[in-house]
Amino acid sequence: MDCAKSIELLSDFSAGSLGDQDSIFVRTHLSACVDCDGVFRDLKLIVETALAMRSENGIAYPEEEVLWQRLSASRIVH
Ligand SMILES: [Zn+2]
Repeated sequence: MDCAKSIELLSDFSAGSLGDQDSIFVRTHLSACVDCDGVFRDLKLIVETALAMRSENGIAYPEEEVLWQRLSASRIVH
């Protein structure tokens, strides 16, 4: 399994900024790997929540990138 590579690419993948080859790699990996698929779901939830809170409250909220780094750091260590 290429989990480390997959995790590394996930935030760009969710932003739609990956090239074709990397997108295919991530998509293929997510369909085969429950762990990374779970991380990807968490990431999407974080991004959506952060965006929703920012637009509802108009307050500065921690950047998705920061939350994502914190999440991936805690998930990778195992
Ligand atoms: Zn994986």
